[in-house]
Amino acid sequence: MDGNQILLLGLGIQPPWRLVEQRLETDKQPHELHLSIKGERGSRYACPECGELCPAHDFQDKTWRHLNFFQHHCYIHAQVPRVKCPQHGVRLIDVPWARKGSAFTLLFEQAALVLVREMPVNAAARIIGITDKRLWRIVEHYVTQALAGFDLSSVEAIGLDETASKRGQNYVTVFIDMQRPSKPVLFVTPGNGKETVKAFRDFLESHRGDAGHILEVVCDMSGAFLAGVREHLPQAQVTVDWFHVVKTFTEALNDVRKAEGQIKPLPKHLHWAVLKRGEADRMTTNQLKALAELLDQGLDTATAWRVKERLRWVRQANTPQGARWRITRLINYARELVGESRLLEPVRKALRTLETHAQRIVRRWTSTYTNARLEGLNGLFQAARARARGYRNTQTFITMIYMIGSPAGTILKST
Ligand SMILES: [Zn+2]
Repeated sequence: MDGNQILLLGLGIQPPWRLVEQRLETDKQPHELHLSIKGERGSRYACPECGELCPAHDFQDKTWRHLNFFQHHCYIHAQVPRVKCPQHGVRLIDVPWARKGSAFTLLFEQAALVLVREMPVNAAARIIGITDKRLWRIVEHYVTQALAGFDLSSVEAIGLDETASKRGQNYVTVFIDMQRPSKPVLFVTPGNGKETVKAFRDFLESHRGDAGHILEVVCDMSGAFLAGVREHLPQAQVTVDWFHVVKTFTEALNDVRKAEGQIKPLPKHLHWAVLKRGEADRMTTNQLKALAELLDQGLDTATAWRVKERLRWVRQANTPQGARWRITRLINYARELVGESRLLEPVRKALRTLETHAQRIVRRWTSTYTNARLEGLNGLFQAARARARGYRNTQTFITMIYMIGSPAGTILKST
């Protein structure tokens, strides 16, 4: 086997293609290896439309970036034939080493995807020596292709949650399959309103799924999501995730703390103390001290904290009936405690939300699927933000959520 053949094998190139020239340019840093390949004279090539073998009509010069050859950047040049098909006219053929329209060989793209699964895209781009913009384009192409192959015909229970690509902006809504133990992401779409549920329904139905088969939806207490589910997933029962109940009261507590902090000095270390769950062993001494002071001084923040802590008592209920009863008790107890204080309005609002959604919250005691799935998505969102760092917008953030959290990432692995 001569050196030329070895190079061609490494490229995955077979007859009629052959290597006609190799040239190492040493005046560039890093050095560049240029390989020129050409089809055997008189060969016939498949029409890209119908596959009929036709003679070459003329040629176009094309170049592709290939895997590095040791430390040298490697480029492939070829005169790509255009065939003249009796049925389809003059067409540029598909070459076996690259996909249509790409400036990279398939092997280069696969190597790039392997890196992107393991590290932030900008780091991967630096290693292989292309701009992160070009690398994102490769990743987006393969993710889109993998998504096209999704079969959602067996999906019956979904969870949905929103998150922001940057703090407080560019929201996306993520839909997961509650029955998939890992890589549960099915669909990600910009926005966090009612229209996201319609977008999911359209995606579902264009991937062999059926909106009428969705019997269960787990989500937060957003009116927009609930309205979307009513309209687009009419068979579904909604369960409110416990995580979102706690989140609602934690946010209310934080609002009270901030407002009260504007009026009077609050103990230091209070911020983290009130946000942590009230388990003494998880708090620092300073946080415990801050909390004790807070309770001593009869501050509104203390009242908000007490209400939030009561949620655990609800959660510990053993039956749906018990939970329902405890929610009612909690609301009555909290309303008495909160009274008319102006600063405690966020807590009154949270209590109204709890009251409105009590039935959906209690469903978590009977639902098969309710667990910490939605809470677990936070880790995925953080990882996707980190991977897209430096080039993060709604689209790259969505692509990365698919890459890490959906079966698309797994499909790519086997290609
Ligand atoms: Zn044809």
